[in-house]
Amino acid sequence: MLKWAGRAAQAAIMILGLNLMAAAPARAADPDSTNGWNYGYDSLLRDLGEWRKSPHVRIDSVGATVKGRALWMVSITAVGDSVGRSGDLTPRKHRVFMHARTHPAEVQAQRVANEAIRFLLADNPQAEALRRDFIFNIIPMYNPDGVELGKPRQNAHDSDLERNWNYATMEPEPIALKKTFQSFMAGPIPIEVALNLHSDQFNCTRFFVFHFPAGTSQAYSDLEKSFIAGVQARFPGGIKDYTFNQTWPVQPGLQYPEGFWWSNYHENVMALTYEDTNCPNAGRFDSTATALVLGSVDYIKARMTAPVLARAKTETRVLLVPEGVRIAAGPEGGRWELVDSRGRRMAEGATGAQGALLAWNGLPNAPMRILSVAWPGGVRSRVVLPASAR
Ligand SMILES: [Zn+2]
Repeated sequence: MLKWAGRAAQAAIMILGLNLMAAAPARAADPDSTNGWNYGYDSLLRDLGEWRKSPHVRIDSVGATVKGRALWMVSITAVGDSVGRSGDLTPRKHRVFMHARTHPAEVQAQRVANEAIRFLLADNPQAEALRRDFIFNIIPMYNPDGVELGKPRQNAHDSDLERNWNYATMEPEPIALKKTFQSFMAGPIPIEVALNLHSDQFNCTRFFVFHFPAGTSQAYSDLEKSFIAGVQARFPGGIKDYTFNQTWPVQPGLQYPEGFWWSNYHENVMALTYEDTNCPNAGRFDSTATALVLGSVDYIKARMTAPVLARAKTETRVLLVPEGVRIAAGPEGGRWELVDSRGRRMAEGATGAQGALLAWNGLPNAPMRILSVAWPGGVRSRVVLPASAR
């Protein structure tokens, strides 16, 4: 799916190989600290050399720039895990995509992307769980030519790569990114959240670019609000409300990546530009990165359980009562099972014609528990239970 993009990119791989042999220790001073806004292409190659030591990383070039530099994508997930065998609730992993540094002067955006990679590669139970359930694809430097040529916003053709998605002739960088998006969307694990990371030199704060319903849909703007609120909750006080910056008052901006996402995939993909601060108050890139990752994960999990929760509102045969879960009586009874968020069965039993009362303290705990009852005739009830026994 992601083939090396010809001779130019292969030359870049060679450069990467050489760079690895002379790899400096992690977080050494940037070798090219006098250019590239203190983080140039050599800095990226050095960091790729560190990241690729992890067994959870795969590094691909998704294409080549005008000048033949490889466009590196860092993919993070636990390999060989149970994709597709965990039942009907979470039959697969979920995919989050981020790309950063469309505008070379916005180095803060790349700092955030780099911190997201470090967070996801960490050796701890939280990162392990994220790698088990998700695939993260991150392009930390989308415009390396501009970075190396010292162009604040343009690529080697003096084109602003953020604004040419609807041009008849697109630049090689957005062509490569668009192909990458499309190939994932056509595959078994489509992108569900797509973040476009920038940094802003006028507002000097952190915010998302929210889209008015007039340019998208009411449903989409509601999803955007919940996404942004979710990220904010992961970094209290760090990121502005959705009202801070709003765009598309009449119609979508098709020149932007978000215009591509909206016009092709609508509510299926949460696609937003995030702006870090490009001012002396910049910093806390790790807090921001963590919030973006966990906010994306929270959003996807909420979308997964939303249909179950909606059904639970009209469900009258399974009731949550102070003593436990009461399953209604029926002429033939039914079979119940309790599954976790990945569809794994934790407990099961029969209700019998009298129904059943499952005591709270008799049910196994899990961060998310779904009680599913199969009734005669193929009808199923599903209810999300509180996380633990009372
Ligand atoms: Zn920008």
